[in-house]
Amino acid sequence: MADMSPKLSRAVRLQKKLHNSLWLDQANSLMKTAFNQWKVSQNLYVTQLLDEMVHSILFSGHIRNQLMKPEEIFEADMFGILRCFFGGAFEGYKRRLPKRTPFSCLLELIVETKKDKTLVKNELSNIITKLRGKSTNQLVGRALCIIEECQQISYGVSMPLAEKQFKKIWIALSCMHTWHPHVAYAVRKWTKGEECSVPFPNLEESCQAYVHNGKTLKSTPPCISCCELFSMKHVHKKSRSHLYGNCAEAEAISKYLKLKCVPHLDEPTLISDIKNDLKTKLETVKNSNFDPTVVYEPAPISDDRIKLLFQQISGLL
Ligand SMILES: [Zn+2]
Repeated sequence: MADMSPKLSRAVRLQKKLHNSLWLDQANSLMKTAFNQWKVSQNLYVTQLLDEMVHSILFSGHIRNQLMKPEEIFEADMFGILRCFFGGAFEGYKRRLPKRTPFSCLLELIVETKKDKTLVKNELSNIITKLRGKSTNQLVGRALCIIEECQQISYGVSMPLAEKQFKKIWIALSCMHTWHPHVAYAVRKWTKGEECSVPFPNLEESCQAYVHNGKTLKSTPPCISCCELFSMKHVHKKSRSHLYGNCAEAEAISKYLKLKCVPHLDEPTLISDIKNDLKTKLETVKNSNFDPTVVYEPAPISDDRIKLLFQQISGLL
């Protein structure tokens, strides 16, 4: 019987790979897509976005029910390059938290390199068309939200198409570390069953969400949860109700408020509540011991290293 175990082990590994093939395809495709965007504009900020995205993907693999190690996630050539240039992400993904999803990092990369609303929307639409699948175990979402006012534009994407327990982790992380407090507090309070709509004047006129319908991103009215969160009217009778904070509106409205320099609220009790909620969500992750306040910050990278990365990644794409 003893010599059967290596065969079984290989069979189990193969089964795991097949079961996770969409997720793995998405992880590698997201990285390749990000590098293709990055090649257009290789400044420090955009390179650090790559670093943040690598860490966020590694964290996503770590919190899954079927844990994915870095060497299982990335194809060998990609793994070698990422490990060499973004070592901090590989060292930090078990101890430090991401601030946002890999999909959200990719959106920011696209926005930084495309600089045009139609180009951003088309690019994201093409990416979703290429990567989408039917599993509830994905790294990409399927919605985009754009807020345009006085030639200033804010973008947001929805949470990944994952099981609820993982969406809840990402929403709790975003509340704690990324979203404007107005959005974070509204999401937390509505989730607890307390009404806390934040009124934003004229938001409905400037805020437009798009959902991918299998072919392209198509405009869609806000869901019931978003209407409650952001004091928007129910404009569609068949509106669905998603988890509070799941939709692309949360990220876009959060960025919009930051752009408008809307003052933060000083609510110590609510901040502590959001922290405890994140702690509780993270305790559901197997074999981990995250501190809800410790996040990953990408390391600075020199111009010479950026040039070297460009040479190496060009051979791979
Ligand atoms: Zn919604």
